[in-house]
Amino acid sequence: MTSPNQALSAVRHKIARAARAAGRNPDDVTLTAVCKQQPWDHIAPVLDAGQRIFGENRVQEAQARWTERRANIPDLQLRLIGPLQSNKAREAVALFDAIETLDRESLAVALARDIAAQGRSPELLIQVNTGEEPQKSGVIPAQADAFIARCREVHGLTISGLMCIPPANEEPAMHFALLGKIARRNGLAQLSMGMSGDYEAAVRHGATSVRVGSALFGDRD
Ligand SMILES: *Cc1c(COP(=O)(O)O)cnc(C)c1O
Repeated sequence: MTSPNQALSAVRHKIARAARAAGRNPDDVTLTAVCKQQPWDHIAPVLDAGQRIFGENRVQEAQARWTERRANIPDLQLRLIGPLQSNKAREAVALFDAIETLDRESLAVALARDIAAQGRSPELLIQVNTGEEPQKSGVIPAQADAFIARCREVHGLTISGLMCIPPANEEPAMHFALLGKIARRNGLAQLSMGMSGDYEAAVRHGATSVRVGSALFGDRD
């Protein structure tokens, strides 16, 4: 079995190789280690190996895991990659360095309020439902430009980029390309896309952040 250390090196190596093959600087792609539903003994070795950016999909689970530990890890960066209920916005703004799942007006309102109240501004990404799947969160592509504009102009939010989760059974490349196109025409620099199965393809299509879970930590419970 590969150790967490070896898994981390392998993923970083593949990211760098995919970046170079696409004529990109490997330093322009960050790795978010998605540790949701992983026991701490799977996470600790990856942290010890130097990984500092972690992705979580639930506010409560992330609070339980990181609130006390983060005091001892000054350069830790926590990113919320799962759906956020408006009534959890306050806790999310307090804990996370990035929230990647802004996808509706009511959440924009709540985040603007809590950012102002706390004087803390996590990076914000808008989730786009590129496959227009009914069960999936995210704004549909046709409404993305208008939603981005409203977040900026009506709610005064600084939007850093876009995030997507392509449909499980489709070729992800066209979804990555679509996300990149929407980002470019809206002047957005950050593209969060690519998971364990497709992060190299995502890097080739311009991902600035890939979200890798099982390839680093093993299968979740
Ligand atoms: C769980 C999750 C990931 C990581 O998935 P793996 O296939 O385990 O790499 C990435 N992004 C989101 C939004 C997730 O929920």
